[in-house]
Amino acid sequence: MSKIKVVLWDIDGTLLDFHPAERYAIKACFEAFDLPRCTDAMVQEYSNINKKYWLAMEQGRITKDEVLVGRFREFFANQGIDTSLAEKVNAMYQVRLGDGVYFFADALETVKACKAAGLLQCAVTNGTKVAQVRKLAKSGLDKILDYIFISEDVGFEKPSKKFFQKVFDRIGYYKPEEILIVGDSLTSDMQGGRDAGIHTCWFNPRGMAKNFPIKTEYEILNIAQVKDILGI
Ligand SMILES: [Mg+2]
Repeated sequence: MSKIKVVLWDIDGTLLDFHPAERYAIKACFEAFDLPRCTDAMVQEYSNINKKYWLAMEQGRITKDEVLVGRFREFFANQGIDTSLAEKVNAMYQVRLGDGVYFFADALETVKACKAAGLLQCAVTNGTKVAQVRKLAKSGLDKILDYIFISEDVGFEKPSKKFFQKVFDRIGYYKPEEILIVGDSLTSDMQGGRDAGIHTCWFNPRGMAKNFPIKTEYEILNIAQVKDILGI
């Protein structure tokens, strides 16, 4: 048994596979707004734009509101679609995104095993409240995890130290060396975890090379490997 007593789980891209949820949500919005058929290539282009906007937010260059609407504005401009629809489409997109729940292999079993082992577990997510509340309820994770930290409620985004400080204040008297964060993002989860002085585990399911030079303590291909780190 390791000394770790608390696991902070990122949600999108870590416990839940974000790509199929994103694809479903975009296509549903295109249909609802009577836009041209949304092809897989278009979804991929949107996905790349989306990543670029979230990274800019993590680096403090733009706000979250600018991410949410800006990504659709840029995508629509590239596709020759009326950019004034961006705000309305984004609002519907948040709802549809909350409907798509696709667990990564062994993710649900691992969260249950951690609970059975008596670990404290928290969701730590930068996703929007509308989408995250829906998907956490639909997935049943809201019943298993002890705390849910959505950046919109916390008032700060990962990787900000202030985000993590709010988490620590809320969960009580755990030492940093008793806390592990598991996440797929080097720039938000791993950078944030390092800055907060806690253990870091990078979930890298596709075995990609690091696109940012951020040190990580553990690296895993499958979520079940978290159990090995925890010694449960
Ligand atoms: Mg993530």
